[in-house]
Order: sequence, then structure tokens, then C-alpha cells
Amino acid sequence: MKKWQCSVCKYVHTGEEPPEKCPVCGVASDKFVLLEEDTEPDTIEAEPVAEASKSDDSQEASSAPSGTDTPGAAFIEKFGPAAVHMEKAAQLMVKHHAHPMSVHLPNGVIPIVAILVILAWFSGSQLLLQAGFINLVFVLISLPIVGLTGVLEWQRKYNQAQTKVFKIKIAAASVAAICCIISIIWYLVNPEVLGSSGAWLFVFINVLMLAGAGVAGHIGGKLVFKE
Ligand SMILES: [Zn+2]
Repeated sequence: MKKWQCSVCKYVHTGEEPPEKCPVCGVASDKFVLLEEDTEPDTIEAEPVAEASKSDDSQEASSAPSGTDTPGAAFIEKFGPAAVHMEKAAQLMVKHHAHPMSVHLPNGVIPIVAILVILAWFSGSQLLLQAGFINLVFVLISLPIVGLTGVLEWQRKYNQAQTKVFKIKIAAASVAAICCIISIIWYLVNPEVLGSSGAWLFVFINVLMLAGAGVAGHIGGKLVFKE
């Protein structure tokens, strides 16, 4: 049996032909490469950028080779020497799985927020709502790093593949982030929101945030574990 590997997410398919589309990331069959009989499948790694990964800090960005197609090299060319350091930081973040690590903060806290808000709605307890709000603030604080590392990973590990899988993941994560921001603003404007006529909408937004984070997290897990 032949083995085919998806060049975007590294999923390995066994069969005479590559699958019509990748069951993990959704790219078409032409992105599959035939693996030789005795070669090990590739694993995903951060795109190395030759100039930025050297230990010599004093080098000029102008010495970076032009015409390379790695996102890092293009970035350095565009933003000059300071970008070398930012590029190093970006590489380290992707290499050490900063996105899956950081995403566990909001994803662990969001279910608590939803439960607290629902309990507060049923019980009329302002204390439970306050607890939910404090948790929401932690979600908000984590959003910039989660968003940044997510985009970095998508660009560098998955070549910015614009398949349905990635579009759904980005949309779901955006819905969760927007719901978080709306809930925080709404609570700050009216801390008694659950006593108002819009209470159901406030609860709905918090449940929607949980759903968005769940969908994004599910796809993330699928991309990582390929099953
Ligand atoms: Zn794939």
C-alpha cells in the first residue's frame, strides 16, 4: 500500500490514491505527496528562518536573503533590523507550542463563566454574577496572546491554508472573543443586567462564547491529534 502525506497538516493517508481532500485540514488531493517506501513521515515544525535563527545578534536585516518565501523572511525584509528579534520571539512561540498552551486559560475558564452566569440568572444572586465577571476578565486578558499565537501558528505551520476547517476555527474563535468583550462591557454598564429585560440575551451571549470556544478547541484538537 502507498502512503501519502498532507503537505499542510502532515496527516498520513494509506491507499493507492491520495484522498479527495484531507480529512484533517481539508486541503485538496494535490497537496498530498507520495512517501517513499522506507521514509519516515514528516512531522510539523516551525518554519526555520536562516538569518534570524543565527546566534549573532549584530547582523543587519539587509543581509537576509531576498526572495525567500518564509513568512519570517518577508517580515524581516519589511520591518528592518528590529524585526529580527520579533522574528526570533515568533519562532520560539511556535516551536514551544505557545498557542495550545495559552489557549487553555480561556478554554478552562469560559465553562466556569457560563455556569456562573446561568446559576446567577436562576438564583438571582449578584455574588455569582460578580464571580462570573471576574472570570470573564481573565478570559479577556488572555485573548491577545491566544489570538497572536494562533495567527502565528496558522501562518507558519499550516501555510495560511484557507480551507473550511481553518475558516470555521477562526470564525468560532472570533465569536468567542467578541462575546467576551460584549459581556464585559454590558456588565460594566449595568451590573444588574440579570434583573433587566435583556437578561436572556446576556445569558445567551455567554453560552455562545462557550460554544465558539468549544468549536475552535475541537478543531484545534483535531489538527494536533489528526483523528
Ligand atoms: Zn491536511
